[in-house]
Amino acid sequence: MNRQKRAVLTLKELTSKYSDFPRTGLKNWRYDWQLLFAIILSARSNDDQINKLTPKLFNKYSKLTSFANAGQEQIARDIKSSGFYNAKAKHLHQAAILILEQYEGKVPRKLNQLVTIPGVGRKTANVFQGVIYAKSEGIAVDTHVARMSRRLRLTKEKTAEKIEKDLMELFPRSKYYLINPILFWHGRTICQARKPKCEDCALNYFCPSSLI
Ligand code: SF4
Repeated sequence: MNRQKRAVLTLKELTSKYSDFPRTGLKNWRYDWQLLFAIILSARSNDDQINKLTPKLFNKYSKLTSFANAGQEQIARDIKSSGFYNAKAKHLHQAAILILEQYEGKVPRKLNQLVTIPGVGRKTANVFQGVIYAKSEGIAVDTHVARMSRRLRLTKEKTAEKIEKDLMELFPRSKYYLINPILFWHGRTICQARKPKCEDCALNYFCPSSLI
């Protein structure tokens, strides 16, 4: 079976399995900027850690201006449990200022605008677009997406940038936003890094890495 066929079957099997699942594991956000900030915070951390932090954080910093006017040291203290808190505090502070000054307080829609925001790279921008608009200009490659794409032999690449390029050639543009969530949930629950549960996997009949 060729790569294209495996991509088609992956999309078909996993969309039917995870169609009711949320497009992000991040909770507690109400406004688009809060989702963006939660995604920035989740870098090199996990969603559960961030979900514990955000209720208190967004209660204290309830507006973009709260982040813009706060000192970075104070923000760092308030996000300490997220890891890499000094860099993230700097990003949140500068992101709030940039969105207020350059985008009139509204998070921009386009990928080339989103990536101008401190702390926002292609992955963050694609996740954000997918969750907010059910549409994205690229495919967000996180650790689950990278691992599963290689196991399914959809790519041989190792860097997120090159993996994204391969995946964008295989999947229809209208479905880009779904690839991250379906591979994320499957990677988290079935195709786990250390011990994939191939016997329970809906993709085992065509996956080249299946252990059964
Ligand atoms: S068959 Fe196994 S290796 Fe392949 S996607 Fe499923 S769990 Fe992962």
